[in-house]
Amino acid sequence: MSGELQNKAWEELERACSNCKKCELHESRTKPVFGVGNREAEVLFVGEGPGENEDLSGEPFVGRAGKLLDDMLKIINLERSKNIYIANIVKCRPPKNRDPSNGEREACMDWLRRQSDLIGPKIVVCLGRIAAIELIRSDFLISREHGTWFDINGIRHIALYHPAALLRDPNRRPETFVALKELERGIKEICVKTYGG
Ligand code: URA
Ligand code: SF4
Repeated sequence: MSGELQNKAWEELERACSNCKKCELHESRTKPVFGVGNREAEVLFVGEGPGENEDLSGEPFVGRAGKLLDDMLKIINLERSKNIYIANIVKCRPPKNRDPSNGEREACMDWLRRQSDLIGPKIVVCLGRIAAIELIRSDFLISREHGTWFDINGIRHIALYHPAALLRDPNRRPETFVALKELERGIKEICVKTYGG
């Protein structure tokens, strides 16, 4: 696809998503949180869904968990506006930050699929259990399987603990450091552009 066509496809997708009423989360949202970052990134990060700050600003991961995510990215020389793209499984905030239901996730996944088709990532990083059960395997066990690679339709997937979980339980940080280094190793192995090579 030419650059112009690609931009047009993104614009149309974002506009359609901003008006989406496919599930009941549209009733309580301020605005959908579509996603941000480099649309040609080789690495796609996927969180669960917007919280309060994200719902108000329209940007993913801008609250406390977002600050920690930025720190995690920095450890392996990634920057959200530069060499990755970040989106969520559901684009609208679930009331009181409850888990998005199966039906809501299913309704919303089409947006992420279309984003992913346009980006064409080599690596997908699932932030937390909800993204991992949706994108890797329905019985994914985050405590055992974070930091390991899965091949899903030819795209490498890896899960990390969600930064909000790391805020709740700092004991998980050392193993998350190891998982981050494994992600970095994978990026160096198969992504040619990410680190400016
Ligand atoms: N948690 C998420 O999973 N996504 C966000 O965008 C913010 C917090
Ligand atoms: Fe549409 Fe997703 Fe928002 Fe539901 S959560 S209204 S499917 S954008």
